[in-house]
Amino acid sequence: MFEIIVAMSSERANNFSNIAYVFLDRDGVLNRHLPGSYVTSWEQFEWLPGVEEAIARLNRSGRKVILVTNQRGIALGLYSEADLHALHDHLRDHLAAHDARLDAIYHCPHDNGQCNCRKPLPGLFEQAFHDFPGATASNSVMVGDSLSDMEAGSRLGMRSIFIADPAEPPRPDADRAAALAIASAASLQDFVQRCLGCTHWL
Ligand SMILES: [Mg+2]
Ligand SMILES: [Zn+2]
Repeated sequence: MFEIIVAMSSERANNFSNIAYVFLDRDGVLNRHLPGSYVTSWEQFEWLPGVEEAIARLNRSGRKVILVTNQRGIALGLYSEADLHALHDHLRDHLAAHDARLDAIYHCPHDNGQCNCRKPLPGLFEQAFHDFPGATASNSVMVGDSLSDMEAGSRLGMRSIFIADPAEPPRPDADRAAALAIASAASLQDFVQRCLGCTHWL
């Protein structure tokens, strides 16, 4: 009996055919994460390989692609809301040139302990669930490169994918993050190639 229950729950966890909403972290998923520093401008935004095509494929599959990003650098005065919007305008233009788009972008501009939206807290996801009434924890997946992304997914009951490039030194807490994820992938491109079109995680 126990074995059957375990088999059923893992069947459900690995079934990707119902994923309609793909939540993406930004730094470390779309662009290179700068350890100990902040991406404050378009000049510092270095695309990771294959991201544009991966997003375009998600778009073509009919899934919604939603960015959720902590931007504590705003609270620290390193850049402004206007700077962030300018960067994201460049990002959208760049993606559009690759026939790719983000369906929404949500950001938290706050410092630690000042809000309900800094991941791993749920505020950004709650905004998205409000704006996209068809989105639920069970038809969404969170793709991120940090423990806070995996914790956010876990708290909401969403499945999470941990992005960890084996060619890069592991992020702090990578083991804990990977333990909360249902699977790890080397990149967004790797995740999309392996997940898209397959009904089950391979
Ligand atoms: Mg990140
Ligand atoms: Zn916030």
